[in-house]
Amino acid sequence: MAKVSLKHIYKVYDGKVKAVNDFNLEIEDKEFVVFVGPSGCGKSTTLRMVAGLEEITAGELRIGDRICNHVEPKDRNIAMVFQNYALFPNMTVYDNIAFGLKMHKVPKAEIDKKVHEAAEILGITEYLDRKPKALSGGQRQRVALGRAIVREPNVFLLDEPLSNLDAKLRARMRTEITRLHKRLQATFIYVTHDQVEAMTMGDRIVVMKGGFVQQIGTPQELFNFPVNKFVAGFLGTPQMNFFDCTLLKESDGSVTVRADGFTLSIPEEETYRLDASVLDGAHKVTLGIRPDDITPLKGEAKGAEIEATVSLVEELGVQTLIYCDTDANSLMIENSPTAFCSSTVEPTAIKAGEKTKFRVNISKLHFFDVETETTLKERVPTVKAQCRVEGGEAKLLGGSVVCPGLFSRIESGTYTVSISPAALSFGNGFKGVIEAVEQQGREYVYRVRLGDDRVFLKSDEKHETGEETEIALALDSVGFYDNGTPVMEPIPEAYRFDGTFAKLKVKEGGKTVKRHFALIAGGKLCLPDEFTQKMYDQGRGIFKKELSYEVSLDDITATSMSDTAPMGEGEGLVAAVEDVLDYGYVKYLKLKLEGKPFCVKWVGDAVPPEVSVSFDFDNVRVYDKAIDMKLF
Ligand code: ADP
Repeated sequence: MAKVSLKHIYKVYDGKVKAVNDFNLEIEDKEFVVFVGPSGCGKSTTLRMVAGLEEITAGELRIGDRICNHVEPKDRNIAMVFQNYALFPNMTVYDNIAFGLKMHKVPKAEIDKKVHEAAEILGITEYLDRKPKALSGGQRQRVALGRAIVREPNVFLLDEPLSNLDAKLRARMRTEITRLHKRLQATFIYVTHDQVEAMTMGDRIVVMKGGFVQQIGTPQELFNFPVNKFVAGFLGTPQMNFFDCTLLKESDGSVTVRADGFTLSIPEEETYRLDASVLDGAHKVTLGIRPDDITPLKGEAKGAEIEATVSLVEELGVQTLIYCDTDANSLMIENSPTAFCSSTVEPTAIKAGEKTKFRVNISKLHFFDVETETTLKERVPTVKAQCRVEGGEAKLLGGSVVCPGLFSRIESGTYTVSISPAALSFGNGFKGVIEAVEQQGREYVYRVRLGDDRVFLKSDEKHETGEETEIALALDSVGFYDNGTPVMEPIPEAYRFDGTFAKLKVKEGGKTVKRHFALIAGGKLCLPDEFTQKMYDQGRGIFKKELSYEVSLDDITATSMSDTAPMGEGEGLVAAVEDVLDYGYVKYLKLKLEGKPFCVKWVGDAVPPEVSVSFDFDNVRVYDKAIDMKLF
C-alpha cells in the first residue's frame, strides 16, 4: 500500500524565493497522478521533495503511513526515472538494470531473475548485453524504467521521462508507461510540461503555475470545468478561443452575450451557474469557447451563430481546423482579438477567404473575470437570491425563516442574499425539487429549485432528478446585501491573529517560572507543551518571526471575566464585546481585539462588556507572516 500525502508543502529558497506554495494532495494507492505546468512552475521541485532529493521547507509528506520529511531517499521505497536516463555509459544494459540490486547485496540468482523479468516487460531482452550508446533514445528510457522496476518500489516518480524522445516515439512510450502502471500495480507520480501527456495518462492531473496549484482533478473535470483562464487555456489542443464580451440578463431570464462581431443568447436553463454580479451588460468578461464547440453551421441556430471570414483551413485527416476572424479586416493581424479556431470532424468544403456561419455549443461556454481570470461559472457556485425581511422574518427561496434575534436588527426591506454551497444541506427547511445531478468524484453536485431560485450543493447522499426534497439553510453562512453594501456578512470559519512567540518569566504560586506564550494584540496566551515543541521544531529563529495564528471558529472560546479563574499578571486575551448576533440556533459575540473584529460562539444569556478569549491550541495553525508560509 502506498498512498502519498502532501500537506501544506512549501519550498522556499534562500528564505524568500517560494518555488512551491502550500501544495496539498492525497494520492491514492495505485493512482497515476500527473503534475503539469509550464517550465519553472515548481512541479519538479515538488517531485524531488517526494523523492527526498530536495529538503521540504514546511509541511508534512507521508508515504504509506509514515511521515517521510526526513527519511533518506533510499528508505522511502520509491524509484525515480529522469529525463536524461542517467545510465552508466560503460556498463551493459544488464549491469545498468542490476546496479541498484547489487548495491543492496541482493543474491545473484535473484538479481538475474528480476533483470530478466523487467527486460521482458519492457521488451529489451535482446539488448541486455549492449552498452547504452548502442541504443536508441526510447530503448535507453526503457532501461532507465527497468532499473526502477527491479527495485519493486511502491511509488514510481517520473520526471519528464519522454522529453528527449521524438514525437512518434513519445506517443508510443506514453501508452507503454500507462500499460506498465496497470501491470505494476504501483503509485505513479509523473511530471511533464506536455498537456497531452497529462490528459492521456493521468487518473488525476495537478495543474501548477508560478509555484501554486491551480486545480486538481480528473482530465475530464479539468477540461470541462476549468477554475480559471490559465487552466482553460493550458489543457486542450487547439487552445480554447478567448473573446472580450459583456453579459446582460434579459427579462425572460436568458442572458445575452455581446462580443465584437457576434451576439449569443444563453437560455435561462443554462444561466444558473453564472455569477449574477456580472450580468449587467457593462462588466467586461472573457468568454471562452473550445474549438470543437464552434463548428461549421448547417441550417440555422438562432442565438448560437457566429459569422466569420475564414483565413486558413488545415486538413488533419480525421479533423479539420478552420481559422477565422469575425472581423474580415483583421485576417492577417497576429493575435487579433476577434480571431478564433473551429475544429470539426465532419467533412467540409469551406475555403480560405469565404464568409461562413458557425454554430456555438451554448452549454459549453466558459466565462472568466477579466482581472482575476477566475471562472464566473463555477461548478458548485455561490448563488444570489432576493430576500424580503419584515417583522423578524425573512422570506426567501420560496419559503421563510423566522429569526427575530437576527432579522429585527435589519431594517424591513428587500435584500440580496448570497448563498454559498457550504450554507446548504439536505435537511428540514426549504421545500424544493432536484433539477439536475452530476457526479463529481465520490460526491454529487445537485441543482435544486427552491421557489423561483436555483441553489447548488454538494453531497455524498444519492438523490434522483425530479425528486422532491428539503434543504436546510445555515443562516450564519449567508450574507445579506443592500445594493452591494453588506448588511450582515457570513460568519468566517476561521480567523488569523498576528503575533509572536516568546519565553517569559511569570509568577506562579509565589514562585517565578518560565513559560511559553503566544503574544497577540497586547495580551498573552500560555502555550501547552506539545504546541511549544512544534514551535521549537521550526528552529530557534521562531522567536524572531512575525507569526499569524490561525484558529477555527469552533476552537475559540470566550469566557465572562467574572467566570475566569484569576490569571497571572497580564495573561490572557481580553476583548471588548461589541455586539451579539442571535441566529436562534446559535449565538455569537462580536468582539474586537486591537481594532480587528471577530466572532465567537456564545452560550450564556447575559452578555458581559468584556470577555477573556482562549484558543484550543491542539488545532491552531501557525504561519510565518513575512512569506505567508504555513509552518504547521
Ligand atoms: P519546473 O519543474 O516546473 O520547471 P522547478 O520545480 O524546477 O520548475 O523550479 C521551480 C522554481 O524554483 C523555478 O522558478 C526555479 O527557478 C526555482 N528554483 C529551483 N531550484 C532553485 C535553487 N536551487 N535556488 C533558487 N531557486 C530555485
